[in-house]
Amino acid sequence: KSHFLQNSDNERVKVTVRSRPLTKAEESREDVIPVVFVNPDKSTVTVRRKGSFVDYTEFKFDAVLGASATQADVYAVAAQPIVLDVLEGYNGTIMAYGQTGAGKTYTLADVVINDAIQSRVEGIIPRSAANIFEYASNDKNHEYHISMSYIQIYMETIQDLLNPETTNLQIREAEDGGIFIAGVHENAHSSRSHAIVIITVEKKTFSLLDSTNSSEGRRISKGILVGKLFLVDLAGSERLKKSGSEGLRAVEAMSVNMSLTALGKCISARADPSITHVPFRDSKLTRLLQESLGGNTKTSLIINIAPCCDHIQETLSSLKFGIRAM
Ligand code: ADP
Ligand code: MG
Repeated sequence: KSHFLQNSDNERVKVTVRSRPLTKAEESREDVIPVVFVNPDKSTVTVRRKGSFVDYTEFKFDAVLGASATQADVYAVAAQPIVLDVLEGYNGTIMAYGQTGAGKTYTLADVVINDAIQSRVEGIIPRSAANIFEYASNDKNHEYHISMSYIQIYMETIQDLLNPETTNLQIREAEDGGIFIAGVHENAHSSRSHAIVIITVEKKTFSLLDSTNSSEGRRISKGILVGKLFLVDLAGSERLKKSGSEGLRAVEAMSVNMSLTALGKCISARADPSITHVPFRDSKLTRLLQESLGGNTKTSLIINIAPCCDHIQETLSSLKFGIRAM
């Protein structure tokens, strides 16, 4: 039985495309031809066949962000509405899809690192956590319990990355009071695994006991709202070239492909109510996300793309994944 098909309030997935700037290395090359054009005002991405001005495809999304978009812009468009819903007791998912190197981890996780090479700016995960803590501390009418877990799915095995046995990742409080997981980027997960941060917000409503009760002013719990936020840095969506992939790499690639295909089916099913079977059980990823992809939930899918012509096939395939989700 699929509970989400019974839900009339089921909203479709919101899809945002983010095209990253060219890297220094890409910029310095002379053979790089722009083939991907973003139009944030029209929420479209146009992909041109190399060297052609007539052969192009235009895709339309909920939002499109180009090289000049800041981390704050991405948060406002693709994350904050979901975070606010989680604070109201809904489940929500924000996920980044795209080939390795397209900017998924930058978009979701990056924290300020003042090294000589570059300084990074916080992505969606630290911003969401800060947003939740700020909201909770300003709300005097409820008591909050906020917890976080950080897991990885690699070849259909789930690993708890906050378990000290497996890692030394730590949750830290930033100077401005925000919370972040130290080392998310440095301990970069394999591009062949899915990294998932889950923030659970429990919100208790109180009412005062009436005056006939002796324990004056004591508050009783009237109810509890629980919202879960899933922040998902998906494994790289690139296909391995058929030749040259063997051994572990080939098995990893098959596993990633299988789970991303299952994810695609589950979120496409949401856009098409005539689909009666939603294959949540096809992969660990979709099983884990089931409670946040079905039911009364909000989902934001970010398609990360690299604008460079080398990646045109992967870019097209990522854009099509986004279109199927809408
Ligand atoms: P992925 O996680 O998809 O493999 P990364 O997030 O690691 O990709 O990004 C690849 C490289 O591009 C990194 O060096 C990252 O800092 C850089 N990058 C990605 N997106 C942006 C952006 N919007 N602005 C600046 N640099 C970016
Ligand atoms: Mg990454």
